[in-house]
Amino acid sequence: MPGKSEQKREYSLQWNRKTTLLLTGSLALLLVALIICAVHIYRVLNTYRSFVDSSIVSQTELDAELVSANLDANIQVIQSTAEQLQQSENYDMDELQIYKLLLGVRNKSNLDRVSLIMKDGSSYSSERFSKMSGLEELIPYASDNGEVVIAKTYFDFGDGMASYCIMLPVIHKGIIQGYLFGVTSTTDMLNGTETDTYSQISRSYVINEKGTIMAISNSDVMYIQQNDDFYTDVLKDLSDKADRDLMEEELRLSFANQDASYLTFPALNDEWKIFHAPIEVQKGWVYINVVKESAVSALLNKIKIESFISILLVIVLMLLLCFLVGRYVMSEQREMLKLAFEDSLTQAPNERYFLTHAAKLLRDYPDIAYRTVSFDIQNFRYLNESYGHMKADELLRIIVKNVEKELSVRETYARIGADRFVALLVDDGRTKERILHMEERIAKAANEEMINYPIKIKCGFYEVTNRKENIAAMIDKANLARKSVVAQGKDLIAVYEDRLMEETRRREFIESKMEMALIAGEFVPYLQPKWDMKNNHIIASEALVRWKQNQNEIIPPGEFISIFETNGFIEKIDFYMLEQICKYLRKMLDEGREVYPVSVNQSRYLLHDPSYTMNVQQILLKYRIPKSLIELELTETVFFQERERMLEVMEELKRLNMDLSIDDFGSGFSSLNLLRDMPFDVLKIDRGFLNETNASETGKFILKKIVEMADGLGVKVICEGVETLEQAEMLMEIGCNYAQGYLYSKPIPMEEFIEKYNVIQTV
Ligand code: C2E
Ligand code: CA
Ligand code: CA
Repeated sequence: MPGKSEQKREYSLQWNRKTTLLLTGSLALLLVALIICAVHIYRVLNTYRSFVDSSIVSQTELDAELVSANLDANIQVIQSTAEQLQQSENYDMDELQIYKLLLGVRNKSNLDRVSLIMKDGSSYSSERFSKMSGLEELIPYASDNGEVVIAKTYFDFGDGMASYCIMLPVIHKGIIQGYLFGVTSTTDMLNGTETDTYSQISRSYVINEKGTIMAISNSDVMYIQQNDDFYTDVLKDLSDKADRDLMEEELRLSFANQDASYLTFPALNDEWKIFHAPIEVQKGWVYINVVKESAVSALLNKIKIESFISILLVIVLMLLLCFLVGRYVMSEQREMLKLAFEDSLTQAPNERYFLTHAAKLLRDYPDIAYRTVSFDIQNFRYLNESYGHMKADELLRIIVKNVEKELSVRETYARIGADRFVALLVDDGRTKERILHMEERIAKAANEEMINYPIKIKCGFYEVTNRKENIAAMIDKANLARKSVVAQGKDLIAVYEDRLMEETRRREFIESKMEMALIAGEFVPYLQPKWDMKNNHIIASEALVRWKQNQNEIIPPGEFISIFETNGFIEKIDFYMLEQICKYLRKMLDEGREVYPVSVNQSRYLLHDPSYTMNVQQILLKYRIPKSLIELELTETVFFQERERMLEVMEELKRLNMDLSIDDFGSGFSSLNLLRDMPFDVLKIDRGFLNETNASETGKFILKKIVEMADGLGVKVICEGVETLEQAEMLMEIGCNYAQGYLYSKPIPMEEFIEKYNVIQTV
């Protein structure tokens, strides 16, 4: 037996072209956005690359200005000090005074030491007791004409850097008296430079007009001592001497140019860029930034990688967002699909689902023979009424559970109404057994839920022959077959036949006409006499409805009564008939004709109308008809609940003194108990009973007993459908003296009846 898990519902049907289009569209847009981003980044980086060069140029220029300013400040200090010395009267300062002056200058300036060496060999210093050796050796380099000369020295003032010295002759009365020296660390000269990003990737030099390195960043005294010449230092990686010379020439040329710019030259596995700018304060001096291209690229690469990582991050986040939104939308959609495709009470698929899924199965399994099956629970309405809605709903869920257990993956079903289901089953020749098996299981499960009502599945089959046929039409046909199942039949299973469709058309035709027909007076009563066989004369009559569509065509009640009983129109017909009969009787009475009681058929449907008895009474009152002239014919009912209602109504009618007869006794589930409980006046034996009685002695015997019992209860017995004299004689023999049948008269039009039986009384 196929398990429940196999009946997995697929709600993916809604994944349509639109969704796919939307998704691919979004992805394409995302891709385009990415490409734009990538191109943009590429371009920005390229721009940035050239921007880096030009920005290093300006940085170098700025640095050069700084160096120039630093130098200039110190030069000016030395110059003003020299001036002070020159102005002192006769040059007559004593040692202490000179010392104080030098110390004051040192303290007020950036200089680390200020010294004075006189021509006579005496020397003074801002550090009074520590002489600085080596300054005398610089004297030959000092200028004679009172100009400032800057020389490189290797004193270390504690920062590990080399130092430089500003020299100026002190001239008194046109004669050089001595030399003034301002010494300080090159750190001071480079102060303020290299604070920028590029310091990480470059080395800065200050060189003089000869190319001698005056200061260098990030290097100690030792380095500057060992590498005196800038060109040698910077070009040492070029192995070819010719190349070196060429490059040196190029550099000198470029340096001679007063503008800041840069040069590129190859180095070992790399490229160097030499950015330079003139230092204004010292002619021929140049400030230089040497940058390794690999270092710049590394910096750019870092930026590139960072950008791509951010883009990647954005993509991942966007995809994540897409995924989350998608998942949310999908779950929402699934919920919506559930709502759209599931029945909320039982979670069974609904008709809409069935329509699509059945079509899919028929398409997917072209070689499998299929049947549509429509089924419901016999008398579910009564079950609902007696057990209540909760229990009935429980039963529906039980049905759903068991149906799902029964079906395979190649089959499907739906709940299409209260207790109505439809299924597409594989036609393996065992459909009936499967339904019965299912019925058994449902009944068992229902029993466990304390539903003791006998569960009977009523079902209709339709064999799918044309797969292109509309699924809805297939359902309709199975439904028709189900509806054609006769309630009392042993098997509650029917197979669709084309006849059923014709009947449906006929029914639809009748239903489309009935309302107008009633207004147009197309429904007319015929009357059939009830006969006293012993005395051979009429005693009463029965009103039977006829539908006169036009003069010639008469539709017999067999064709429309059952339809009216299902759609409720019967209520209107029955009251109409009652009124017509009352009208007729009134007329007969008014005309002074002889009248006989008329019985009017009353549908079971009327019992459910709470104002039924009142309405009957009102009609009788309206035409002032004595109650003895109207008899109401009711058919007994199978259903317990209805039976109670029927008893109630009958008792009410009896209280109003109405005559009641039980119609069609012996045709269905007649029970003798009923006769005991019900208050009625006439028992009408069904025509079918008489046919059977003809054939068997037992039948006759039973009939005799019924008549005797009715006599005992004081009830009159009329036998319907008496067609032959033999039948009449047999009936009289067993004590039944009243009959209705063709032997005496067919139902006849009212005018004919009036003429024949309602004779004017001549008193
Ligand atoms: P019913 O109440 O059992 O009416 C008797 C039916 O038996 C009538 O059929 C009548 O023509 C037919 N009949 C009478 N004698 C004989 C006979 O000797 N041989 C044969 N073969 N048939 C005989 P009719 O007029 O076709 O009515 C059929 C049924 O339609 C009625 O059965 C009744 O149930 C229903 N019906 C007719 N008129 C009304 C009405 O106004 N209201 C309701 N609710 N039902 C009606
Ligand atoms: Ca009747
Ligand atoms: Ca009858």
